[in-house]
Amino acid sequence: MDSETDTGRDIRFADLTTLRVGGPIGRLVTATTPAELVELATEVWAAGDDWVVVGGGSNLLVADDGFDGTVIRIASRGIELLPDAPEGAVRLRVQAGENWDELVAWTVEHGYSGLEALSGIPGAVGASPVQNIGAYGQELSDVLVAIEFLDEGATEPRRMTVDELELGYRTSVLKRGLAGVVVSVELELHDTAAERAVLGEAIGAPVAYRQLADALGVQLGDRVPVVRVREAVLALRRAKGMVLDPGDRDSVSAGSFFTNPIVTERVARSLPVDAPKWYLAPEQPDEVTPLASLASQSPLDAFLAHQAALEDAERQAAIAPEDPLVKLSAAWLIERSGIRRGFAIAGSGAAISSKHTLALTNRGNATAEDVAQLARFVQQRVQAEFGIVLHPEPVLLGIEL
Ligand SMILES: Cc1cc2nc3c(=O)[nH]c(=O)nc-3n(C[C@H](O)[C@H](O)[C@H](O)COP(=O)(O)OP(=O)(O)OC[C@H]3O[C@@H](n4cnc5c(N)ncnc54)[C@H](O)[C@@H]3O)c2cc1C
Repeated sequence: MDSETDTGRDIRFADLTTLRVGGPIGRLVTATTPAELVELATEVWAAGDDWVVVGGGSNLLVADDGFDGTVIRIASRGIELLPDAPEGAVRLRVQAGENWDELVAWTVEHGYSGLEALSGIPGAVGASPVQNIGAYGQELSDVLVAIEFLDEGATEPRRMTVDELELGYRTSVLKRGLAGVVVSVELELHDTAAERAVLGEAIGAPVAYRQLADALGVQLGDRVPVVRVREAVLALRRAKGMVLDPGDRDSVSAGSFFTNPIVTERVARSLPVDAPKWYLAPEQPDEVTPLASLASQSPLDAFLAHQAALEDAERQAAIAPEDPLVKLSAAWLIERSGIRRGFAIAGSGAAISSKHTLALTNRGNATAEDVAQLARFVQQRVQAEFGIVLHPEPVLLGIEL
């Protein structure tokens, strides 16, 4: 076996995560091939060690105490074209250790469409199904066919279809606790070869995100060359500190720290009229929905209506599951609860990004506890102001919010 094994107190999670916090680890093993990954994982499980898998460490917040078990780092590479793709499509098997953004760049170069709006997301391919990564109107679930998954305790990976993964907004059965290792993923993308022959360019999927459409100067639903979509997404992300960049300290983060809350329409209606809201029912427009009926309310009336709606929603939840669900903007809730970009608690090494309210950043000397303390502060402010609990998006290890 040519995997690397490191044991020693000087390896810290801070070296393995993009937030650059987290204490010492017991042992680090690195798998560079799928076979080695299976072998290492089965050895670790047979030994009964505590274990955790790490790809790019870009969605992890680990405690300052560290982790006294084995960290399995995945570095297996390989992109393979699979036979029997449907007409006009291409099927890929991608090993878990491939870098996500390098995969996107590769698909764009080859004229395959389906991942272009997911440009610039850090991390490894194996983690992409864990929280069903998404951005700018695309999600992994749009293109994922299946994964090869090694259940904890098993010695052979099995194929899990996309349906079995129960992918949702930043979640899956893996994030909810199914223990094991993603060995590879299988994707189906649109092969633009026929269009390229006529138009000379690879045209992407319909643009499904307002801000991206505006940046491209097109309408929602228009189709634009994949190369332009990638460039526009990368530019938008850079402006928000949302691509890893050693020169940008706002990118020393785990990306968005909170998911956008999903509430019933009743709760959403109790929020101020300018609160962005997206209906989750497919027939509703994926747009900010102004609730004009609330526009004339005084702040006190709006507050009382909000409290009543919250209580109502709790009562209704049991009896009216058909009440439509609405996604809110966590960034808007944070800003409107009085927390501005760049905000830091006195004496803390963590701060809200100066470019994006949703990212908690390490300003250079933060501890994991600094980050957790800031996260709790944000949660408390939003809850006090709006009665809504923000949930963390990264996976927390040894930390509770
Ligand atoms: C600047 C920045 C911007 C970001 N933007 C976005 C965004 O736009 N959209 C988005 O969805 N996310 C975003 N993220 C979050 C993150 O990049 C993604 O969640 C990414 O998929 C994490 O990959 P990773 O390899 O770094 O995972 P890690 O952080 O290493 O691991 C995350 C979780 O997945 C598990 N895991 C990792 N690999 C495997 C595997 N092979 N098998 C089983 N479990 C595994 C880990 O145990 C852990 O629980 C951003 C992060 C940063 C830092």
